[in-house]
Amino acid sequence: MPSAAKLRFDGRVAIVTGAGAGLGREYALLLASRGAKVVVNDLGGSHVGEGASQRAADVVVEEIRKNGGEAVADYNSVIDGAKVVDTAIKAFGRVDILINNAGILRDRSIIKTTDQDWNLVLDVHLKGSFKCTQAAFPHMKAQNYGRIIMTASNSGIYGNFGQANYSAAKMGLVGLANTVAIEGQKNNIHCNVIIPTAASRMTEGILPDILFQELKPSLIAPVVVYLCHESCEDNGSYIESAAGWATKVHTVRGKGAVVRPSIDEPSTLEYVQSAWNKVTDMSQATHINSISEASGSLLQVLENLKAGD
Ligand code: NAD
Repeated sequence: MPSAAKLRFDGRVAIVTGAGAGLGREYALLLASRGAKVVVNDLGGSHVGEGASQRAADVVVEEIRKNGGEAVADYNSVIDGAKVVDTAIKAFGRVDILINNAGILRDRSIIKTTDQDWNLVLDVHLKGSFKCTQAAFPHMKAQNYGRIIMTASNSGIYGNFGQANYSAAKMGLVGLANTVAIEGQKNNIHCNVIIPTAASRMTEGILPDILFQELKPSLIAPVVVYLCHESCEDNGSYIESAAGWATKVHTVRGKGAVVRPSIDEPSTLEYVQSAWNKVTDMSQATHINSISEASGSLLQVLENLKAGD
């Protein structure tokens, strides 16, 4: 059962990108209801990244103010991350929380994907998240505090037909989060990944109707907003959430196998083939926590080979 004390964000300033609709709107509303001052960023274009309008951000800002909260609108594209962060600094003097959420789709099969489809999707998701993070980072470093969210997708983790650009961008964000988590750690800047599934204009017509009704974005907001709270110690976690359910996701590595006869002999194609069942056996898979742990285990493999094991 939850404790009686409410988790608050008084004194904290949060930027939520793409907060004019869908998931971002829910994050902004919840943060503001718990005392955060919120920058509601939204370019206000279509779901394929065409056009722009101030209305999307304005409506959410009005909603927050009507509920007694504090918010300002920002209409810049996330690609201009410095401008987005500047809005927070000018309005509220600091930035504690950055939720990189803005996104678009340009779904096409690989053969039909144009350079424009590729570039726009990579720019908004991956470059936009990088530019906002890069601009927020010095402020977070100076105050020795920050909470950053990257938004990935099961389309990236598992692949999805017609989403080469989107899935590449979303897995790129996992890689970006891994490094932001490492670079931020000593300054109490945490970076975590949300992998959501929710009903929004982005998933309308894609998710089956019966599922669509159940997948309210408001059910994901508490998970994402908790990740942004000072009491949440996670850093570098990937959290999947939908329909009021959440779980941690992580990569695993198999035990592996040596694919050469001995330390004095080279690897051959045939040797690889003969060891393939062991190479691909995941029955003893484990999670690797860091690049040094990964390299360290390679050294152990070499030592075992030298010892003739
Ligand atoms: P949505 O379309 O309702 O919201 C995205 C918002 O981002 C829109 O309001 C849009 O105007 C804004 N936006 C687009 N380009 C922008 C830019 N360049 N600068 C600033 N704002 C911009 O979609 P959603 O479903 O709420 O998606 C939110 C995030 O969650 C996206 O990153 C999406 O890829 C991700 N996601 C969603 C789902 C899902 O099931 N809905 C699944 C996986 C990942």
